[in-house]
Parts: sequence; C-alpha cells; structure tokens
Amino acid sequence: MTDLRELLVAEPGKVRLAEIDPRSTPGLKSNKRDAKDWSRAEVARITAKLGSYQEPLYAAAKKGAPDRILLLLQAMDCGGKDGTVRSVLTGSNPAGVKVVSFGPPTEEERAHDFLWRVERALPPPGYLGVFNRSHYEDVLVVRVHELVPPETWQERYEQINAFEAAQVASGLTVVKVMLHISKEEQAARLLARLADPTKFWKYNPGDLAERARWDDYQVAYEDAINRCSTPQAPWYVVPADRKWYRNWAVANLLLAAFEKVDPQYPVPDFDVAAERAKLAATI
Ligand code: ADP
Repeated sequence: MTDLRELLVAEPGKVRLAEIDPRSTPGLKSNKRDAKDWSRAEVARITAKLGSYQEPLYAAAKKGAPDRILLLLQAMDCGGKDGTVRSVLTGSNPAGVKVVSFGPPTEEERAHDFLWRVERALPPPGYLGVFNRSHYEDVLVVRVHELVPPETWQERYEQINAFEAAQVASGLTVVKVMLHISKEEQAARLLARLADPTKFWKYNPGDLAERARWDDYQVAYEDAINRCSTPQAPWYVVPADRKWYRNWAVANLLLAAFEKVDPQYPVPDFDVAAERAKLAATI
C-alpha cells in the first residue's frame, strides 16, 4: 500500500478544501465491499500496536530520551474529534497519555502570548499527547470572529511555524490532522444530536451561528493548513464524513509517527548478571 501519509499530507500553498471530497477514502480500495469491517478490524490491530509502543517510549524518557508524540486534532463542529480520540486511544495506557482540550482562553491565559498555554499543555518526554483543538484556534475562530486585529492573526502563522519547529528540534513528533467533513454531514450530525436525549448535552444553540460562517471557516482552515504545513510538522487533511475511514486513517498516521520514533527500551546502566547473582545470594 502507498504510504497513507503521502496521500493525505497537505502540500503547502496547494490545498483547496473544496477539492477534497469528505466522503472519499484515500488509500482504501473503492471496490472493497467489506471496507468498513476491514478498516474496523485494522483499527483494533493498530491501536493495540500503538499501546505496545508506549512503554518503551516512556522507559526511554526515564533514561533521558527527549521523544514525545502529539496528535493535534482540528475540525469544524461535529467533525468527530472526540470520537477519533476515543477510537485511537483504545489500547493505550492512560498513564502515558496526556489529552488536552482547548476552549476560549481564561483571563490568566489571555494575559500571556497565545502560545503560552500551548507550550504548557505539550506532552512531556515519554508521553503521547492529544490536542483536542489547539493553537490553530488562534488563526481560526479568532480570525473568523475578528477577536484580534488582522495584523495580529496574520503574524501568527510564522510564530506557529517557529514554535513548532523549535519543539520538533527538541524531540516532539507532531501529527496535525484536520478532520474534513461536509456541510451536509454536519447538518446530519446536528440533527442526530437533537433527536437523541443522550446527545442533547453535545448540542449548543451557538453551533448554528458558527455553521452560518461555514465558508469563512473553510477559508481560515485553508490558510492555516497552507501556511503551516511544513516538512517537520506537516498537516494532514483526513476526509471524515465516514467515521470508520476517519478512525482508520488517523490510527495509521499515528502509527507511522511511532514507527518513525521507533522507541527502544533503554540499555540497563547496571550489570544485570551481577545483580542477579547478588539477589540469588539473598534467597
Ligand atoms: P468542542 O466543541 O471542541 O467539543 P467546546 O464546546 O468546549 O468543545 O468548544 C470549545 C470552544 O472554544 C470552541 O467554540 C472554540 O472555538 C473555542 N476556542 C478554542 N480556542 C479558542 C481561542 N484561542 N480563542 C477563542 N475561542 C477559542
């Protein structure tokens, strides 16, 4: 199979979201009748594998390795961030995972630069981090709602690139994913929320005001992706109308990140045979 990363990676300056079909399934054979079942089984296999990478990642960090991995998720409302997190973290040890959701900044956060809270939220060495929304909100919602002057958000693309480059240089591997849904799919998911009392809590009447700005958001997303997809921290656009494809694609992208880091258990800094002998003498 072609590397999924090649199919989904955003080429800087070239991404046109309108040209990416949210119902498409790149990397899966379209004639595969059992694609849904197959991809679900693959997700189970991949997530178990992800879990098995966590311990060596953590163990290596204990001995000073700087590696840490971050899955950064952005999407329009109902894009499936929560479902993706649930799916790809099945099989992971919660003790080695740091999930952070970003809402409107608090008063304390607003007193600092927009990246201040982000840096504090990054996974420490040895951890898998997940960002449910991120510093990209500062060039998305902030831009669409004109929460700062244009000069301010315009400068942020470069600031984000410099910030991410510095983090990558100090051991971060970041997988930035936009879950790309269609406006029709968003409507269907909002309707589903309004039809099910166990989903009412997920519905926010403000979602409709955001939906009305769909086109503005698409432009803001396109700019963020085109300007901040870099060789060291690329963006991936994952078609996300089909949840099973979305889960499969994100699990694969995360697995590729772990494989690139290839965490190894550290070599012991003591003489194992001598310790065994000493222990045996006490028995
Ligand atoms: P979600 O929709 O991700 O499940 P919430 O309903 O808590 O979670 O929404 C979080 C809200 O916080 C979103 O409306 C998002 O646009 C907003 N938000 C996140 N970051 C910022 C930011 N830097 N400035 C303003 N609003 C933000």
